[in-house]
Amino acid sequence: MAYNITLIPGDGIGPEVVESARRCVEATGVKVNWDVQEAGIDVMDKYGTPLPDQVLDSIKKNKIALKGPITTPIGKGFRSVNVAIRQKLDLYACLRPTKSYKGVRSKYENINLIVVRENTEDLYAGIEFELNKPETKKIIEQIEKGTGKKILKDSGISIKPISVTGTKKIVNFAFEYALKHNRKKVTAVTKANILKFTDGLFYEVARGIAKKYEGKVEYEERLIDNMCMQLVQKPELYDVLVLPNLYGDIISDLCAGLVGGLGIAPGANLGKEIAVFEAIHGSAPKYKGQNKVNPTAMILSSVLMLDWIGEKEAAKKLDNAVAKVIAEGKSVTYDMKPHRDDPTAVGTSQMADTIIKAL
Ligand code: NAD
Repeated sequence: MAYNITLIPGDGIGPEVVESARRCVEATGVKVNWDVQEAGIDVMDKYGTPLPDQVLDSIKKNKIALKGPITTPIGKGFRSVNVAIRQKLDLYACLRPTKSYKGVRSKYENINLIVVRENTEDLYAGIEFELNKPETKKIIEQIEKGTGKKILKDSGISIKPISVTGTKKIVNFAFEYALKHNRKKVTAVTKANILKFTDGLFYEVARGIAKKYEGKVEYEERLIDNMCMQLVQKPELYDVLVLPNLYGDIISDLCAGLVGGLGIAPGANLGKEIAVFEAIHGSAPKYKGQNKVNPTAMILSSVLMLDWIGEKEAAKKLDNAVAKVIAEGKSVTYDMKPHRDDPTAVGTSQMADTIIKAL
């Protein structure tokens, strides 16, 4: 049997790392019909949009996608294609496992954390009001009237919706994940002391759900600022973290830093029926086309994908092969060497070749 899977190379370093992951999946022996779909900054001219309809149609049809990173212009230009895919397909859970591989250069050992990030609401809702626009002036007036608080006229406004519905879904997901994977504790992380009606609501809903799991999975809360410090000082105290969208994004990068960097940090965007697997890292445009960056994050995202579709043996085999190559430390990319300009570092495709040989 062959699986139908949407393959989105993306832009920047995307095509290089996605090709490495595709070759690794095929080398496990799992049969896949790849439905290759173009998206990102490079297809703007061709389709007039970075996210042509056929990309979403393909993911809806196949239910599974392996996706490379896609560039989002900063401060102007089109909105994030990555966020749009998550919102349009209701991929409400972003799962980012962080574990230490032997041989990775890091100040920490034995890290094993799961970040569960809400993926569709919060400040990522894309509801923004630009400086000096008539609708911005109107919203400022309404807020001032409604709250009696002053907002400077030269302000931009971004809206942060957090719903009971969205929070229930993500917190349930985190507890169910913990239960299924024999995890002991879920920590909810917000800034509820300041954001009482959004982050406060997140806690309120989380506490209600935690009650259902009493005696099975422990529940605790941390404020995001304290959490950053705690993760740097004593990450071993934590297990599964569940967070609203923005904090989840930031903490994922922090956790990636604990285990050796973005080059090896995988992720999955999961909905009720659809799953899109992608690395945490972005399109790193300055490295585009150089066959230089680390393919591991994308390859480990494909390990999560194999596991998700039920190909547990293949997932384990590929994970072990990655672990072996990292532990040997020879045929690895520049970011895994003691010095970034180490002449013994290999390129993206050579590291993938070595992982395939180790399978
Ligand atoms: P980035 O993750 O692309 O790169 C930051 C730095 O991390 C790079 O300069 C590089 O030093 C390192 N890095 C990233 N991937 C690596 C790899 N595979 N191997 C080795 N080193 C690696 O973050 P950025 O520079 O903030 O963002 C660049 C673009 O990517 C932006 O347009 C951003 O919006 C987009 N982005 C996309 C996604 C996504 O597609 N899901 C995620 C994050 C950022």
